[in-house]
Amino acid sequence: MTRYIFITGGVVSSLGKGLSSAALGALLQARGYSVRLRKFDPYLNVDPGTMSPYQHGEVYVTDDGAETDLDLGHYERFTGVPARSSDSVTAGKIYSNVIARERRGDYLGGTVQVIPHVTDAIKEAVTADTDGTDFVLIEIGGTVGDIEGLPFFEAIRQFGYELGPDKVMYVHLTLLPYIPAAGELKTKPTQHSVKELRSIGIQPDLLLCRSDRAIPDSERRKIALFCNVPERRVIAATDVASIYQVPVHYHEQGFDTQVLDHFGLDSESKPNLDIWRHIVDRLLAPEGEVSIAVVGKYTGLQDAYKSLDEALAHGGIANNVRVDMRWIDADIFESDGAMQELETVNGILVPGGFGERGAEGKIAAVTFARTKRVPYFGICFGMQLAVIETARNLAGMEKASSTEFGPCAEAVVGLMTEWKSGEDVERRSAGDNLGGTMRLGAYDALLRTGSKVRTAYGTGLISERHRHRYEVNVNYQRQLKAAGMRFAAFSPDGELPEIVERDDHPWFIGVQFHPELKSKPFAPHPLFASFVKAAVDQSRLV
Ligand code: GLN
Repeated sequence: MTRYIFITGGVVSSLGKGLSSAALGALLQARGYSVRLRKFDPYLNVDPGTMSPYQHGEVYVTDDGAETDLDLGHYERFTGVPARSSDSVTAGKIYSNVIARERRGDYLGGTVQVIPHVTDAIKEAVTADTDGTDFVLIEIGGTVGDIEGLPFFEAIRQFGYELGPDKVMYVHLTLLPYIPAAGELKTKPTQHSVKELRSIGIQPDLLLCRSDRAIPDSERRKIALFCNVPERRVIAATDVASIYQVPVHYHEQGFDTQVLDHFGLDSESKPNLDIWRHIVDRLLAPEGEVSIAVVGKYTGLQDAYKSLDEALAHGGIANNVRVDMRWIDADIFESDGAMQELETVNGILVPGGFGERGAEGKIAAVTFARTKRVPYFGICFGMQLAVIETARNLAGMEKASSTEFGPCAEAVVGLMTEWKSGEDVERRSAGDNLGGTMRLGAYDALLRTGSKVRTAYGTGLISERHRHRYEVNVNYQRQLKAAGMRFAAFSPDGELPEIVERDDHPWFIGVQFHPELKSKPFAPHPLFASFVKAAVDQSRLV
């Protein structure tokens, strides 16, 4: 039997609903249950693929090629369950489905309305593709009271009414702000937020209260009484130093116990949370430190590189060191003297990116890493720019560039118009829509025997996630090889270079995919573990 837990938020956004959902998922798994986690976003974009990172942070890509909210990344990192396209639902997706059905005549001449047609489509999305999982956790984006969220709240209200409390639970995340002048945690915003939720017919079963300190018993009693929630189900979610402390912290506050109790399931036995304790020990008491420069475009906004941030930290866990990440705006390298920013780092990483702005600065950072023998990790755009750098500076192709920046004489990186996806061939042209027209999702790659990456992965066949339009042109293989850069992995048909590396450098690797999307704290990605190790080795040299 599948049970459904809806996680809503109130008072303010950014309280960490995604992390709370992910941590609950991890706790239920530790109790032996299977879980799926889903995000329902009430905005009208069909997916976040076309949104600016400033709007939405990173776009997280699933194996099946969906461009989704970054919360799906948290879900995967905490539970290891690969997210799917069906786990990411937006109002845009729901409405475009409903409108497509209307155009087909599926509604048989009826008036198409938010209730029941949109709400029915939302309810279908709740139960779709759940394969008998024990618990499906669904986070509703935004906060209660948002106009655009109303159809979602109405749909989950109906869903709970139809299935009943032994199959459905509502968890509401709120904020208890501390007011220094009063010397108190204030419960009023929580009361209002719950009132709002109840006014649309949802009585929360459990309140998760974010605060910067413990909740005094008197306040807990007050919240319980005014919000109609048993005291034991008013759970304190106090701030912690690392996100990976959240599962253990929530467990200590009784979160998972109360969830199981709600469903009438055994809540007495203790879950084994040793892996989380181990991860936290490593993160909070590492034996050393390395510094890595991340040279990108959205460095002012860490959410734009969320998975990368986490994957580097996981590389630190694997090597028992803290990774000090220095987020550097690529633009600064276009002026003189900026290179000294890189003098003190133990590794340089150029992450994924789009567009010409900052590209020359990133290429300058690649030159620095290559010539000074500093470990270099190029991810997607970072690989393409590393290839351009070698082509220009070592292979005599001064005009080498990517067609992403306009027509060029030596297009070592060019637009991909055709590629194989399993048995099918995908085709694109330069004028296609921007949304969903990239090479997206998991693709296999074969690693060359004797390559450094093959040693790092410990296998010759990998599957990694992609999100790009352009591709390193395989026809330049010979010239690049003569300049010391080898293609270390290809797509199975041998057409698309997937990894480049240099033999004359301690660690210089560029990958066409996004390895950061698959790294977990309990299973650091092999390339991040290997890169951070190279940075540790480098730190011993200086
Ligand atoms: N802009 C490049 C492309 O579209 C790289 C994309 C990326 O780094 N994700 O191919």
